[in-house]
Amino acid sequence: MKLIFERSKPGHALTILPPLDVERTALPAALLRESAPMLPELSETELSRHYTELNKQVYGVNDGFYPLGSCTMKYNPRVDEEMAALPGFTGIHPLAPKTATEGCRKVLELAASLLEEISGMDAMTFEPAAGAHGEFTGVLLIKQYHDARGDSARRKIIVPDSAHGTNPATAAMCGYEVINIASGEDGCVDLESLKAALGPDTAGLMLTNPNTVGLFDPNILEITRLVHEAGGLCYYDGANLNAIMGHVRPGDMGFDCVHMNLHKTFATPHGGGGPGAGAVGCKVFLAPYLPKSAMLDEPGHCQVRSFAGNFLVVVRALTYILTLGREGIPQASETAVLNANYLMKGLREIFTPAFDRLCMHEFVLDLSDYKKETGVSALDVAKGLIDFGIHPPTMYFPLIVHEALMLEPTETESRETLDEVAEIFRKVAELGREDPEYLHTAPHKAPIGRPDEVAAARSPILRA
Ligand SMILES: *Cc1c(COP(=O)(O)O)cnc(C)c1O
Repeated sequence: MKLIFERSKPGHALTILPPLDVERTALPAALLRESAPMLPELSETELSRHYTELNKQVYGVNDGFYPLGSCTMKYNPRVDEEMAALPGFTGIHPLAPKTATEGCRKVLELAASLLEEISGMDAMTFEPAAGAHGEFTGVLLIKQYHDARGDSARRKIIVPDSAHGTNPATAAMCGYEVINIASGEDGCVDLESLKAALGPDTAGLMLTNPNTVGLFDPNILEITRLVHEAGGLCYYDGANLNAIMGHVRPGDMGFDCVHMNLHKTFATPHGGGGPGAGAVGCKVFLAPYLPKSAMLDEPGHCQVRSFAGNFLVVVRALTYILTLGREGIPQASETAVLNANYLMKGLREIFTPAFDRLCMHEFVLDLSDYKKETGVSALDVAKGLIDFGIHPPTMYFPLIVHEALMLEPTETESRETLDEVAEIFRKVAELGREDPEYLHTAPHKAPIGRPDEVAAARSPILRA
């Protein structure tokens, strides 16, 4: 398909600016550009067709099943979008006088108190723009805490090998040495490895529970106790709260600090790199180190992002929590866990679960045996699923499972859909036995076949 600049024809431009209704003011010469900007010129029809064509090239939650494990691609209720589109929220300027922003402040306060209750934390910031940014902010709180006590010997952050890649990256960016510990046979933290890693140089532990293979660590209280005993703090990667919200709270599991991806669990569409929010909550003793927003009149400026973060994402999260309420929130996580277990059961005759026991909101399949038998890899199967109209699961993650496919069906899928999906997996598995070549070269029906992912990552062409 053509780029918008390639579609552009001189003279086709749209006049989209409304007539000037204020006095014309000359801008200082220093602020004026030397030549006109290169803007594409298209008529309204051409523009409309361009975006419709673009829309057909992509696949989103509104197209169909999207089991991208760890990413929580669930349906986002329209009412959340409607609230975030209210002119009182979209039209507000961050520098508007206090009297004009009372409603917005109320939204932030109420959302903070509800998320504190859900996470078991005492204080919250909405500044971080995404999960990784939230982790960075949270680990800086831990660092500040140790620094304020003059405890400069704590240079290490412990991260299990099943962690999301952002965890070790965060710890390293905060200047810590990352200590990787191997998971046990059961996919959970191996207590002996943890004990061996702990010491007077431990700043903290970063953990996701349930972890990225979808298992809830039954030793969690012992884990956080051991870290505290060694003088470290516990960071909870709550990017994905879908399995536990309304049932278990990171604060009660012994964690001191947590981030939650409002764009995963709390109903903001994501996946296209759009605005997110990695809300960070902490226990009261860390609260003094939270970012302080000038806009919210918090004394002692130290911000990790401008103003109050991605405010409209918070509006969606608040709407989501209020519409679900005290009964709906735990029901959503129950259904997420039920759906994952139902689908795992439907698929276990087709592919081998990496851990064949009760899972939480997601589970991992191990296609090593299937690959030995057919030569068809997890990548081939994932690409083949595209031709059957569903989005591939997460592939080759977590690293502790080879030929991994990780599925998170989420709570917004019906039983009928899950049955259909199991049927599609069965067809693809059979296809791999009968015609492996078809899967080696799949997808055949998507606008793009197999891009060279390595070249795209190493030498991206970002502008024409
Ligand atoms: C998605 C995710 C992250 C990162 O969140 P971003 O918003 O993509 O930065 C971190 N940890 C886990 C477990 C995740 O699933």
